[in-house]
Amino acid sequence: MMEKHMTWSLFETLVTELARSGRVHDFMQSPKRRNFVLLRHDVDFSIERNAHMLGIERKHEVQATYCFLIDSPSYNPLSAEVQSLFRDIVSAKCHIGLHYRYNDNLDPEENSAAITRQLKTLSDIAGTTVDRFSFHCPSKKALNAKIAIPNAANCYGPEFFSFYPDEKVPQNPPVKYIADSNYSFPWGFPDHETLEAHDKIQVLIHADNIVDDEQPKSKNRDALLREKLKHITRDLNSMY
Ligand SMILES: [Zn+2]
Repeated sequence: MMEKHMTWSLFETLVTELARSGRVHDFMQSPKRRNFVLLRHDVDFSIERNAHMLGIERKHEVQATYCFLIDSPSYNPLSAEVQSLFRDIVSAKCHIGLHYRYNDNLDPEENSAAITRQLKTLSDIAGTTVDRFSFHCPSKKALNAKIAIPNAANCYGPEFFSFYPDEKVPQNPPVKYIADSNYSFPWGFPDHETLEAHDKIQVLIHADNIVDDEQPKSKNRDALLREKLKHITRDLNSMY
């Protein structure tokens, strides 16, 4: 497992490289292509950090997909700050996706029905068509279920993701998946060499896991909590 973790300056280097390569395509167009990089962000916790990330992508004109939970205890899709982020994502020609909590106790059909409902709800809340979804902390069951929803892209579908249940990922999978997982990149860091080595790639980066260059990653959890505390304190101060 590689120890290299993402910092904001490394993220900007990645976005610059992607912009120069011209290889970033959207989930809806990529299945027809022989060469693409899909850039995805799952919004698990921090809205401020995802807004900062979008600012970097907007500057370099790189289009990513931001997947949102509608049942997060940490942010509210109807709040002013998330509504503002939705508008900024659309105006930056990026895309909004659903980040769905797959329920292992339901069968795939029931999960599919729930995803369809949540796609509609998020479309209404975001004021734009939400036509793609990813899974939050996907279990093997979720990845194995091969959920297919008409007119919506499953970011873990076979066109975008190669699943290896035994976790031994071959050197050249049909789609190379690069993702941050608890500050490390178990399937390779998205640097120039790795991006050049594969024709089809999906990159997942969580803004929550990106740290300032001078900040140790051990302090990141506290920094994330401080952000939420700031919002809750502001809310309380407005009342008392
Ligand atoms: Zn998640």
